[in-house]
Amino acid sequence: MKKFTVITLGCPKNTVDSRHLIEELTAEGFLYVEEFKKADFVFINTCCFINDAKEESIDEILTVAKCKEHRKLIVIGCLSKRYKNELKKEIPEIDALFGVNETASIISFMRQFKNSDSYSLICAYTMEPPSYRYIKIADGCSRRCSFCVIPSIRGPFKSREPEKILKEAEGFVSSGIKELIIVAQDITQYGKELKGYNLVSLLKDLCSINGDFWIRLLYLYPTDVDEAIIQTVAENDKIVNYLDIPMQHSEERILRLMGRRGTKKEYFKKIRQIREAIPGVTLRSTFIVGFPTETEDEFQRLVDFIEEVQFDRLGVFKYSREEGTVAYNLKGQIPESVKNRRFDEIMTRQALISLEKNRALVGKKYDALIDYIDADLALARLYCHAPEIDGVVILENVSELKAADKVKVLITEAYEYDLKGVIVK
Ligand code: SF4
Repeated sequence: MKKFTVITLGCPKNTVDSRHLIEELTAEGFLYVEEFKKADFVFINTCCFINDAKEESIDEILTVAKCKEHRKLIVIGCLSKRYKNELKKEIPEIDALFGVNETASIISFMRQFKNSDSYSLICAYTMEPPSYRYIKIADGCSRRCSFCVIPSIRGPFKSREPEKILKEAEGFVSSGIKELIIVAQDITQYGKELKGYNLVSLLKDLCSINGDFWIRLLYLYPTDVDEAIIQTVAENDKIVNYLDIPMQHSEERILRLMGRRGTKKEYFKKIRQIREAIPGVTLRSTFIVGFPTETEDEFQRLVDFIEEVQFDRLGVFKYSREEGTVAYNLKGQIPESVKNRRFDEIMTRQALISLEKNRALVGKKYDALIDYIDADLALARLYCHAPEIDGVVILENVSELKAADKVKVLITEAYEYDLKGVIVK
């Protein structure tokens, strides 16, 4: 039986695409294996959102190419969609290239290698822990942020059918998954082509699924987080009090150049509204430093904004000049050394904010979801931690427990990003 493995880079949306590919190939009679050594086919699901992501994807392809031996190397995803010809030319070890949403072509490519006697085995799927699953509710993006290549790679925004999403969610919950993480490029756009069915409708339907699970919302466009969404999060216990709202900048001139909506005043108002309606809410945002023409004053005002809001979680990106975007042609590109300094300044300040916020949790009790267990050490998360991007709670002496268990923990120590805790009754 032919075996394949998938290496996934980039964001949670790629994780979902890889999972779907694994399901489809398994249904075709191929066996998913975790170990590269055992595989006949190695898929690399790539990312090219910014320069660092591109480099990581290329490094991974080159590493696999060097030791591929008899294996077939198949590159898929964003980088492969954007640079198909270049990759084919520069890395001849690649056996096939596919872009995004090309599962049907991948399957027909793979069929030529299928054994006639192949039979279906239970797929040992271990790419994500047994505690959570990302659910992609839409593909693509129809916004036109001037720095972003996503719309040209993934196409316009397209909502998935609610029935499919709900069926997938029910399947996860009944198999013991305890956290459903709702993702799309911008989930506030969900349902815009579905005639009256929107994100709030979907969330209500998801909350009505029976079972012990949490729902987490990632990536909401700031100006479109409306009263109805805020109330839905506030009123439903199944939705954790956590919102990831990428703002990218605070200054109006830069926001307009970025092709984004809203003003600093509106952002302040929205944040106040959210914090009043959802006490204890964890707010995450991302910002870009070094966008073309960003002055020192504008950067300092961004720092002041971040200081004043005191986001619970913060991601910072150095502006990456991407071919094919509007911002690529802007005059006033900022030198890398300046971007690095601005990046370091925000990260240093945020580390202090984060430490202070974590210290405030010491002595308090929370429900925690265990993602991983190794010997008698567990890594768990609270409602305020999204997997992969936020910190974790480290628990010791947990020999009786397993991944996907929910426990009550008392927080005993705080670090910049992680926490330590003990299990309590
Ligand atoms: S909202 Fe803007 S930054 Fe986000 S994917 Fe769409 S175009 Fe890109």
